[in-house]
Amino acid sequence: MQNFNSLDLHPVILGALEKKGYITPTPIQAQAIPHLMEGKDLLGIAQTGTGKTAAFSLPIINRLAKNKVKPRPARMRCLILTPTRELASQIEQSVKEYGKGLALKTLVVFGGVPSKPQIQTMAKGVDVLVATPGRLLDLMAEGHILFNQLEVFVLDEADRMLDMGFINDIKKVVAKLPKNKQTLLFSATMPKDIATLAGKMLNNPVRVEVTPESTTVEKIEQKVNLVEKANKPLLLKSILKDKEIKSVLVFTRTKYGADRVVRHLERENILAAAIHGNKSQAAREAALCTFKRGRLRVLVATDIAARGIDIPHVSHIINYDIPSDPKSYVHRIGRTARAGREGIAISFCDSSEETALKNVEKCIKSQIEVDTTHAYHGVAPQMVRLPPLGAQDGTNKKNPYQNRNRKRISKTPRHKRRGNSERK
Ligand code: AMP
Repeated sequence: MQNFNSLDLHPVILGALEKKGYITPTPIQAQAIPHLMEGKDLLGIAQTGTGKTAAFSLPIINRLAKNKVKPRPARMRCLILTPTRELASQIEQSVKEYGKGLALKTLVVFGGVPSKPQIQTMAKGVDVLVATPGRLLDLMAEGHILFNQLEVFVLDEADRMLDMGFINDIKKVVAKLPKNKQTLLFSATMPKDIATLAGKMLNNPVRVEVTPESTTVEKIEQKVNLVEKANKPLLLKSILKDKEIKSVLVFTRTKYGADRVVRHLERENILAAAIHGNKSQAAREAALCTFKRGRLRVLVATDIAARGIDIPHVSHIINYDIPSDPKSYVHRIGRTARAGREGIAISFCDSSEETALKNVEKCIKSQIEVDTTHAYHGVAPQMVRLPPLGAQDGTNKKNPYQNRNRKRISKTPRHKRRGNSERK
């Protein structure tokens, strides 16, 4: 298949795709759309960044538009379940854009915001409901949601749902759904629990796999910067000095850590904002929106807040710390190099993170190149690794900053050191 025109999609959808500048379907779209148009169930093994939202949204919109039925009160014709608020908003936005001009009613429901407007819209019935599990169950329990007009059910990011402890919530929702429907399940990886769930939910599904389990997007240039923990703020500042770096997503392990990075950057007059679970939904959306529009250069996020979010122009990912769950590394760096672009992922690794780094490398099945040229290179002796191939001429020794920094760390009292506030 060469372009979208060869698919039997509604002309209005083709127009919307053209407007968005989509010419060629991505591999998951090319493989999944024809089966989905035939009404088949689907097991999609794909990460975000592969175009999976359009892969499931386009055939759904097509189906709903070709056979228009008025949704009855409290009912929806399609339910899309996804783990985070950001993903839910993003999916609803995509459905709206792809289906613009088809007068489909869409609604997104998630927690952390008042439920009244959600209930009011639901009372009239919608074509597509995008939801996170918690708020959906609340609305179901209160009788605001009924499933007897459901035609298509999508379970998105199933492995994330499992990681986030939503598996029982999902089972509760699935138990209420009608038997006769089309079901799609997407997951980046296929742990045993998800495979079992898929076996129960899907009826003779087509299996489409676009990225092998736990491999990293090839277009991302990955580097690891070995650095003393106290020097991480300085290293971040020195990287951000490069004005060519226009859009950076910084990941921290904790919410507190994210706030500290933002405070540090603000002290350096670098505009930054954080998104994490302790921020209000409005603050998260505002930060994300400003970042997406290119008005905020640095967004600092925790893993959960940034899961699956789609910001096409992110050129650099900085792992301010190495995630303890190696799968998070893959998800983190997958926020760049989206839709055919290239990206750079830099991971800061101090001596306490050696095991976490090794686990990441085991997970991605390759060793990440060590950048020995940055100004703060230097960590405990056991961390000094062989320089990557092509840099075996002892680049370490030539680094004029390495020893200077070490000395400074040992002689200056802690409270007087700059960047000390970044310590955990
Ligand atoms: P997703 O994996 O659904 O989060 O999509 C990743 C990104 O790819 C989004 O920014 C989409 O807008 C973009 N995208 C999806 N399909 C295509 C396509 N066929 N051509 C170009 N960009 C696309």
